[in-house]
Amino acid sequence: MTHPTIYQGPVFDMARRQFDGVADLLDLSPDERDRLLYPKRAMAVTCPIHRDDGSVAVFEGYRVQHHLTLGPTKGGTRFAPNVDLGEVAALAVWMSWKCALSGLPYGGAKGGIAVDPRALSRRELETLSRRYMQEMIPFVGPYTDVMAPDLGTDEQVMAWFMDTYSMYQGRTVTEIVTGKPISAGGTHGRRDATGNGVAHLAGRAMEKLGIDPKSATAVVQGFGNVGSVSAAALARQGVRIVGISDHSVALHDAKGFDIEVILRHVRQTGVLKGFAQQAEIDPKTLPTTACDILVPAALERVIDAGNAAALRCRIIAEGANGPTTPDADAIIEERGDIFVVPDILCNAGGVIVSYFEWVQDLQRLFWDEAEVMRRLYEILDRSFAQVVGRAERLGISNRNAALSIGVQRVRDAKGTRGLFP
Ligand code: GLU
Repeated sequence: MTHPTIYQGPVFDMARRQFDGVADLLDLSPDERDRLLYPKRAMAVTCPIHRDDGSVAVFEGYRVQHHLTLGPTKGGTRFAPNVDLGEVAALAVWMSWKCALSGLPYGGAKGGIAVDPRALSRRELETLSRRYMQEMIPFVGPYTDVMAPDLGTDEQVMAWFMDTYSMYQGRTVTEIVTGKPISAGGTHGRRDATGNGVAHLAGRAMEKLGIDPKSATAVVQGFGNVGSVSAAALARQGVRIVGISDHSVALHDAKGFDIEVILRHVRQTGVLKGFAQQAEIDPKTLPTTACDILVPAALERVIDAGNAAALRCRIIAEGANGPTTPDADAIIEERGDIFVVPDILCNAGGVIVSYFEWVQDLQRLFWDEAEVMRRLYEILDRSFAQVVGRAERLGISNRNAALSIGVQRVRDAKGTRGLFP
């Protein structure tokens, strides 16, 4: 077959290169490779809205559903200026391997709108969110494709998505999206699930390397839902947070930051900037700051061939999706002194608790927080053991171990179901 050509760009190239490496490892035939890698469906929509000044603005939106083999597709919706089809497709592919690694009955999906949400008023953001969901109605459903938050979206946006879908159905369909507020059918534990999971697995990695959290340091890049919660949860383990950043500024202080105080500042002002002027550093130097645990929790491709050799950490706990390029992976593997908790393992807490939310919504039966957390950590610990076990057994990187478990599970499902017609 000729390869689909609509998936382009550096992020999709990354997903393709990672997949090719794992496909070689699993000795997949060329036919299997094309069937496994390329997304099943991709939608592009235009979303016109009335701006507050009375003008009309048109935004481009996407949704990619990677494979439908194991159940509905699942994944977040990203509102960010540079969103394009290739990036959304790569993120959908990663969601597939992530869900399969965690044993969730989902394929991967991802969606997004090319927009800077900070440049919209609250009314404009609500209008755009609702219009996007309205455009997606023919393609999504509780048994087809279930959305969730991602970069630039939050509980409120999910509530608008759910409400819009429900208004069109003429009844409340909470199970159409996850990551909703608890008041609108959300679950306990979802808001902090990704960050808590990242800190939990960073804890497992420290255990493995014999690092005492109370004498450990961490650098966290990104202070959104994932970064801020990871930092706070690591601090609760006793880890000193010596570096932190958001889109406005990067800060470093070897004595460590009080994350609760920073959280208050960010709640009041919206940004990290202005918190500690004397601690400001060049954001480019943050990833190579000396620490035990580096947590990239913002964008893709921040650890690359340009800085991988200069990293001064012992653990990378990937809160973001795709923060490390394949070139950087090769350098890190060659160095051999950094323990990587790869994204599809490390940040899986979000989609795992999303799965719990969907199950609870479908059953109309809700769990308490302790139940959610117990089940979350059980799955994360099982996956961690499987990944590290396979990596050690086969002498491969944690990333290749994680990816190969995910890919193999999807492959097995496709194999046993067969090819229709
Ligand atoms: N956007 C998150 C991720 O990348 C969560 C997806 C979900 O909860 O469905 O994993």
